[in-house]
Amino acid sequence: MYKEYRTKHILNVHKHSDGGWFWTKYSASPYLGCEYGCTYCYCREDKYDPHKSERDPEILGLEDPFSQYIKIKENAPELFRKAILNKPKDLIYLDSYQPIENKYGYCRKILGICRDLEIPIFINEKSPLLLKDLDILKEIKKRSYVNVGWSLISSEKDETFSIFEPNSPNPESRFEAMKLLSDNGILSGTVFMPILPYIYDSDKNIEHVIKNTVLNGGKYILDGGLTLNGYCKSFFYNYLDKYDSSLIEKYERLFSSNLLYSQINIKIHKTVLKYCDKYNIQNYITRPINHFPENIQINKKVAENLFLKARDIQLEGGDKYKEWAYRKAAWEIDEFRDNILDLYKKEGCKGLTRIKGVGSAISLEIEKILRFNIDKG
Ligand code: SF4
Repeated sequence: MYKEYRTKHILNVHKHSDGGWFWTKYSASPYLGCEYGCTYCYCREDKYDPHKSERDPEILGLEDPFSQYIKIKENAPELFRKAILNKPKDLIYLDSYQPIENKYGYCRKILGICRDLEIPIFINEKSPLLLKDLDILKEIKKRSYVNVGWSLISSEKDETFSIFEPNSPNPESRFEAMKLLSDNGILSGTVFMPILPYIYDSDKNIEHVIKNTVLNGGKYILDGGLTLNGYCKSFFYNYLDKYDSSLIEKYERLFSSNLLYSQINIKIHKTVLKYCDKYNIQNYITRPINHFPENIQINKKVAENLFLKARDIQLEGGDKYKEWAYRKAAWEIDEFRDNILDLYKKEGCKGLTRIKGVGSAISLEIEKILRFNIDKG
């Protein structure tokens, strides 16, 4: 079921950059709801769910409103242009190449606006439908930055896959699209999330996804675990039950023990690292910084370093206090308006500690990063 509507809102401006992951500061989507209906999708959770029965009574009676009721922002392109026009240039997260795009073409229009305004983009995608806009992607690449992360949980479509991603294009077609992008010089990689515990966390699946990424020209693997909250959990369990009912008890245990949850995710992450190492592919996205004003590019570089440290600690189940110390310092430096190198040259590490969130230990790490960059010229 589709419904067009007019809205005043299309651009999300996040408080901080999504440091260590996609590096995005903005996000936008011309459609609400997603026809692909992945059964693990966190967007059904109350705080993200775009459909509310008070506003859209049509959803009452639908089995899965999130995937069966798609709202189209009929003024999306004009609204997007207006909203982004005077914003500081930063990376935007896009997705939404779902079948309805064939009729409206709003993703294409939004891409065209990003090209004209030289806005760098990251696209998280499951559908080769994106390739219809290869011409614009190539132009964006010339003018700013484009990176397409292919969302994958498995390297092949089989019965298991059809349970967890019932309507989305098959993984093979995503790898083919990755190859085509790569052949056209467009940065691409795999967003390997969520790796479903006890289902897709085998060495075999992890190795296949990573190997296929490399074979198809992907440049990174970004892995992440499954989160299940509120309604998402009961929704997902219906499908888990179809797959293997004995797993419900295991999942219950997993999601009621922070320790077990963390142990399983660390184990999965280590397996990913093992195969990234074997196939010589990086486990993060290098932050694009050329679109920032030149005098703060060094700040962004330092922040990148600290964000990645925070992410490593998070994925390896390290000290939470340390993880947050790095992240908070990274946020402050990322948003610092003066050139951090000038500050360091004038006042040394002591000067760095005047930045909120930067203590003496972190100032020494920043010093190392700055020195490395000075030596590199
Ligand atoms: S494609 Fe993405 S947004 Fe759509 S249902 Fe799947 S996980 Fe959710």
